Amino acid sequence: MPVNKLGVHALVFAGGTTPAEVDYIIGETEKSGYDLVEFSLHDSPQLDVAAARASLEAAGLGVVTSRGLSFTADVSSDDSAIVARGATLLHDSLAITEQLGGTHFTGALYSALGKYMRPLSTAGRANVVTVLKELATEAAGKGMTLGLEICNRYETNVINTAADALRLADDIGEDNVLIHLDSYHMNIEEDDFVRPVKLVGDRLGYVHIGENHRGYLGSGHIDFASFFHALADISYTGPITFESFSSAVVSPTLSNDLAIWRNLWNDGPELATHAHEYMVNIIDGSSRVYS
Ligand code: MN
Repeated sequence: MPVNKLGVHALVFAGGTTPAEVDYIIGETEKSGYDLVEFSLHDSPQLDVAAARASLEAAGLGVVTSRGLSFTADVSSDDSAIVARGATLLHDSLAITEQLGGTHFTGALYSALGKYMRPLSTAGRANVVTVLKELATEAAGKGMTLGLEICNRYETNVINTAADALRLADDIGEDNVLIHLDSYHMNIEEDDFVRPVKLVGDRLGYVHIGENHRGYLGSGHIDFASFFHALADISYTGPITFESFSSAVVSPTLSNDLAIWRNLWNDGPELATHAHEYMVNIIDGSSRVYS
């Protein structure tokens, strides 16, 4: 089995986080062989945190949380009231992550998830650095890690490439701020699937595996062999999470932010089992070196 913990995004199974949905998500995550589940905190007010934690522990599953911000609560804004709302969302989400028993909080923590109509401003970038430095300090006190997920140009104007993310992490300047690569976004923005991995190196903390259209692994054109070889070459041992979306399973918030308009699958449990087997095999193959 791979050294990496393998995860699955909860939206493969259910669009929300009501108690019934959380039980279903956790049951299906366990059945399809994963080590952890990633919950988006977009509709966290619905989430019964204590019950979810108890179910995760009973199933022996780890948990990672993720989120993006919104245009009315955005730490990359020039408007201090909008920045403050974004900072509050981040601090609340970090607290929920801790209460769930998680140590990884990741995503577009630095901006809204959506199409910006102008470049990031100097003042907006400085606001990102200030807020995330404070959040990272708070997280470090809890033994927790923040991830900067690099997203494509249609979802953020803050960081689109590994080089952008490293510059931002350097400016934040806290050791518990790690880089999160996602093959779906890399396909749009990076030169290939090797250079960004080598550039990030031991600052890589989390990985999303998704096809170019976010459907079944292997049904699109992402060069997963190159990506997994590169991960093996830097001896990446952190979590790797399968992320896929279809109009068959809809979150009223996140699905719209991510422009999920197409039906790429109907059967989430079958999709999850397929992706787990795909990742186990390619990680195993990538680690076999004969010379
Ligand atoms: Mn992702």
